[in-house]
Amino acid sequence: MSESPILLTPGPLTTAPGTRQAMLRDWGSRDPAFIALTAELRQRLLAVAGGEESHVAVPLQGSGTFIVEAAIATLVGPGDKLLVLVNGAYGERMVAIAQRMSRAVEAIRWPEERAVEPERVAEALRADRSITHVALVHCETTTGILNPVPEIAAVVAGEGRAFLLDAMSSFGALELDLRTTPATAVLASSNKCLEGVPGLGFALIQPAALERAAGNSPSLSFDLHAQWKGFEKDGQWRFTPPVQVVAALVEALRGLEAEGGPQARRRRYQENFDTLLAGMRRLGFELFLDEAVQAPIIATFRMPPDGRLVFRDFYDALADRGFLIYPGKLTQAESFRIGCIGALDRRDFERLLEAIESTLATSQAASSGPGFGSDLLVRPLSLESRA
Ligand SMILES: *Cc1c(COP(=O)(O)O)cnc(C)c1O
Repeated sequence: MSESPILLTPGPLTTAPGTRQAMLRDWGSRDPAFIALTAELRQRLLAVAGGEESHVAVPLQGSGTFIVEAAIATLVGPGDKLLVLVNGAYGERMVAIAQRMSRAVEAIRWPEERAVEPERVAEALRADRSITHVALVHCETTTGILNPVPEIAAVVAGEGRAFLLDAMSSFGALELDLRTTPATAVLASSNKCLEGVPGLGFALIQPAALERAAGNSPSLSFDLHAQWKGFEKDGQWRFTPPVQVVAALVEALRGLEAEGGPQARRRRYQENFDTLLAGMRRLGFELFLDEAVQAPIIATFRMPPDGRLVFRDFYDALADRGFLIYPGKLTQAESFRIGCIGALDRRDFERLLEAIESTLATSQAASSGPGFGSDLLVRPLSLESRA
């Protein structure tokens, strides 16, 4: 078996050996040992965000989208109305989920490079009293932009509405304290900043909101009230749990605590990001976002506008060197993304930059005439701003 590649993606991502090791045993899902592991999982998830006193943790089998869908289906009732604050693809996905669930839904949209503005949210809530729930993405993984969660949570709470936060690509690294930031539900998954393996989403939810949501979900599987009641009854999962994924996530959560918690993890990711950005700029690449709104989670770089760098070739050349980067997801500009999360540190990013530099040098040698590589290595490309 060849060595694992370094994943520079928003998840699944590079995991620690101990996390992968934790999957090398079998578990009986109704055995006391696994029930204890599930209890530890739920407890540790709450502790990451300081939600032990105010929220309950409800894990659900599946990818991150599954928990978003289950939360909207369960918490937004047939007579409610959801307002989604959109500045990227994951916000749009919440709108699509609500529509598919036949829930009343509206959106306020910002350009992908602009953070959501609390004042506009306040105006919208004052103008439409029928809005009962507001949904926001913490770090929009489309670009890597950071939305101002504490300010928006305060606006929503001040207007007496429920707040649903998609913290998928931030939970475990970016600051989120449920003791000071009011949120009805926080949604995330196993395979992003928690550095577990994929297969599990979870919601931290205020129990009173869950109680009120009994019977709301039109889906049997995507019913977080029923899922919660199952755990409360006997500590067991309603349906077959992904036992190895749970074991790996508990190990990864112990690792997060050992690292020093979310603050320490954020510092490591920030160092990864800073190393990456400095190196990429030196090589002539331009960051898509303004640094003021950039989270240290995933960086979007513009494709050089001359068209001489082709994503697929660039990807393949880096993959040959052991690094997997990520395609862009912008609607408005050619781009690619490099994730800064996972069990990686600045040395991995230094090696990545060497691989990128050698890739560009090789493309220079291979090209006839004045190639992309020579331009790139001799002087920084002057990248025009987006058309
Ligand atoms: C990853 C992610 C999701 C869920 O994606 P899946 O592919 O279903 O795991 C949802 N929201 C955000 C912000 C994400 O980054």
